Amino acid sequence: MPAPPTANKDFDLLIRGARVIDPAQHMDAICDIAVQDGRIAGVGDFSAATAAQVIDASGSIASPGWIDLHAHVFYGGSASGIDADADAGIATGVTTVVDAGSTGAAVWKDFREGVMATAQTRVLAFLNISVNTAMKTKHGDWANFSQSKTIQLAEQEAAAGHCLGIKVLASQTHCGAMGITPVKLARQAARLSGTGLMVHIGNAPPLIDEVLDLLGEGDIVTHCWHGKYGGILGRDKKPLPAIWAAAERGVKFDIGHGSASFAFDTARHALDAGLPLHAISTDLHGGCINGPVFSQGTTMAKFLHLGFSLPEVIRLSTSSPAQLIGRGDSLGSLAVGREADITIFQVADGNFEFTDSEGEKEQATRNLEVIHTVRAGRIVK
Ligand SMILES: [Zn+2]
Repeated sequence: MPAPPTANKDFDLLIRGARVIDPAQHMDAICDIAVQDGRIAGVGDFSAATAAQVIDASGSIASPGWIDLHAHVFYGGSASGIDADADAGIATGVTTVVDAGSTGAAVWKDFREGVMATAQTRVLAFLNISVNTAMKTKHGDWANFSQSKTIQLAEQEAAAGHCLGIKVLASQTHCGAMGITPVKLARQAARLSGTGLMVHIGNAPPLIDEVLDLLGEGDIVTHCWHGKYGGILGRDKKPLPAIWAAAERGVKFDIGHGSASFAFDTARHALDAGLPLHAISTDLHGGCINGPVFSQGTTMAKFLHLGFSLPEVIRLSTSSPAQLIGRGDSLGSLAVGREADITIFQVADGNFEFTDSEGEKEQATRNLEVIHTVRAGRIVK
């Protein structure tokens, strides 16, 4: 643990006495966090220091600000978009929201100016391969599709720090009769723009094997543990060979809970088989914010219920998603010098009924309650 720089220095903010869990630094200890000029100034014993603002966090946990790798925050611009701050972000302990393809090339500028530039929550996004928002039009919007424009926009917006890559919804709901073609277009757009690729898996067509076979190192599969037919498990409830092959090639797996895409049963079979998981995310939108998803915290609590440790649940909601989006050196840790994004929360004991996307209900004994959110050094909840 780093020693305090100068014990008598005044800080902008001191968070005192929290159980600080920062998996990126292998840290799990009761200590203080000092914040100065919007950045982490130190994590350690600052009992002798003073600060303009002090949070007494004894009995609480402080972690790097949570990252929700999959949500839909094009509020007002897509059918089920929710508010980046009040619904998906800082109000719920999430300091970075990744919008997973609510926006295609035709409406990207509106989203960037109306949401990214105005939200207090850090909003990053995957650009939908379909021209308009796929959340608005059931089978996407391909009328004025231009692969060249998509690639140019992705490259330019990635350079500006806004765009993380290309999102494709590889499911019948969104691809309609186009089958595997949108996945191929998305992959090509990601490769030629030098950006990331996030692929939603759902109902065939396209078939899951043909989707996975197109993916490689660093590509993200979201909704990985959905409970529909044609997912990652065969009839014997064992992972398909194509899943193991994808994992071996370095494909990454994200939860993306949502209203239709997370099943306790699939999760348990995946865990029994030893499949890797790289991110816990909500797929939060208007259709699931009042259940079964509610929030990032509730989604994380479902993984405590499934047997994950608290540090592991935090890792899958901080440093691991940060790495998946190429921001491992700036987001997802409380390392000195990082922008001070911090989530302060408690593990509440009690009786909680959790519902998955298949309507299965389970009784759990722990939930996560966010007390404060700190974004870039400011207390925003
Ligand atoms: Zn989604």
